[in-house]
Amino acid sequence: MEIARIARLERNLQIDRFALYRPFIVYTIIVTAMNTAVHTRGAASLLQAAAFITAGLLTWSLYEYATHRWVLHHVPKRHGFNLPGNVTHLRHHANPDSLDRLTVQLHESLPVSIVYCFLAWILTGSWESTTFLYTGFALGYFFYEYLDFQAHHGRARNRWIRYFRKNHVLHHHYDAKVRFGVTSPLFDYVFRTYRLGKRTR
Ligand SMILES: [Zn+2]
Ligand SMILES: [Zn+2]
Repeated sequence: MEIARIARLERNLQIDRFALYRPFIVYTIIVTAMNTAVHTRGAASLLQAAAFITAGLLTWSLYEYATHRWVLHHVPKRHGFNLPGNVTHLRHHANPDSLDRLTVQLHESLPVSIVYCFLAWILTGSWESTTFLYTGFALGYFFYEYLDFQAHHGRARNRWIRYFRKNHVLHHHYDAKVRFGVTSPLFDYVFRTYRLGKRTR
């Protein structure tokens, strides 16, 4: 146990911290700018903000589940086109301790953000609601990156973090056909992939 801990600490020294924090920096700036613009216009109530941020968190949770289950775990083709993130994620399963690409790359997450905001704007017809929905979505994304890091490289001892870490580690090392939710088990319950089946590896 002690050897594993020292090995992890040594490995963590090699982490490129700027690459690790880059998505947090970029999206904090974007979300802050959007919220400042809404606040300056003064058109939204606190209740509206809270309701749409919660809805944004839920859409993150569904997005995370659906992408993880049906895109990232798709059986890839040997030649030709593969779904975005598919091969990278399967590499993450093959070597979860790798320090390569610790976070989702900006060229992958920015198009998702743009499409999300566009759809939110079409559906709600409101710039304020779009901002709050996206704020919730981005918070969910931050939590996802934090938890995935904690699951494979982190040292957080908090009871809740330990729960999420165990959840994700079971997906990795017990059965990759269950526990697709990283930030919440909600959609694993909904789509019946929470219960642990027979060990597959
Ligand atoms: Zn996976
Ligand atoms: Zn992982």
